Amino acid sequence: NADAAMYRAKELGRGNFQFYAEEMNARTLDRLKLEGGLRRALQRDEFELYYQSQVELSSGRIVGMEALLRWNPPGGAVVLPGDFIPIAEETGLIVPIGEWVLRQACAQQVAWREAGLRDVRVAVNLSARQFKQQDLARLVAQVLAETGCRPQSLELEITESVIMERPEQATAMLQTLSDMGVHLSIDDFGTGYSSLTYLKRFPIQTLKIDRSFVADLINDADDAAIVCAVIALAHTMGLSVIAEGVETEAQLDYLRAQHCDQLQGYYFSRPLPAAQVAALLAA
Ligand code: C2E
Ligand code: MG
Ligand code: MG
Ligand code: MG
Repeated sequence: NADAAMYRAKELGRGNFQFYAEEMNARTLDRLKLEGGLRRALQRDEFELYYQSQVELSSGRIVGMEALLRWNPPGGAVVLPGDFIPIAEETGLIVPIGEWVLRQACAQQVAWREAGLRDVRVAVNLSARQFKQQDLARLVAQVLAETGCRPQSLELEITESVIMERPEQATAMLQTLSDMGVHLSIDDFGTGYSSLTYLKRFPIQTLKIDRSFVADLINDADDAAIVCAVIALAHTMGLSVIAEGVETEAQLDYLRAQHCDQLQGYYFSRPLPAAQVAALLAA
């Protein structure tokens, strides 16, 4: 955003430097407010996990739930992760927040199972900073032990770009997590650039096709070709593949014809608070 403001300022010319400075100032204030709010949010218990169903195409059954973080600041509307995760990441607050997410999601998985509901896997997103923490595997092991969640009931989603930033280190970390029995998937696949050599070596189970490719699948031949290629690639490598952002029946039909394994998107369910998800898992 700072870059965008800078670019705009340059475009407007020297005479507008005053305007640019004022805009930056407002931005900095907003940022500080946001940062302060985020710092207090954990203590005040303002975070909440929503869950979105992951559906197996062949059976139509819910096989997983992706945990998606929401922030309910006092007196304000719910804030989506796109509006606070980047700052949490920059300030390092993502580390304690991410730990809360992991613990909460694992505890929820156990609560559903113990309530006799469908025993689904819970998927948790890991940020770049979290994935680089040396003690990530120890934290995961500790949270699994504390909550009683089985490793195979936890899926960790790491984005392609985070993994490809330092592929050697990432491979080692993925291997450690995989040895623990945790399910691993690459999120937003297709938006970064994975080397196929690495992809073959990553001890992962699932590729998640980014929803930007699914959105125009029906009208855009290039996106359709990418989706087909990713599904074929995943299957050739013995991986399963899930399409994100499925909103229409036409997309569903297309993905079925291409033998995509799982689907996730508004067509099936929006992300919902845990209490509402229980009803879906009972059905
Ligand atoms: P993501 O992991 O790729 O999650 C999928 C996003 O797509 C979610 O946005 C979800 O609400 C949205 N989505 C699902 N189905 C549809 C659909 O049919 N149409 C459209 N238009 N959108 C759909 P959300 O919840 O705003 O999360 C955005 C991103 O924030 C996530 O992308 C993930 O990268 C990040 N995030 C969410 N929760 C966490 C968390 O606990 N920790 C970390 N580190 N990142 C998180
Ligand atoms: Mg995800
Ligand atoms: Mg994704
Ligand atoms: Mg995404």
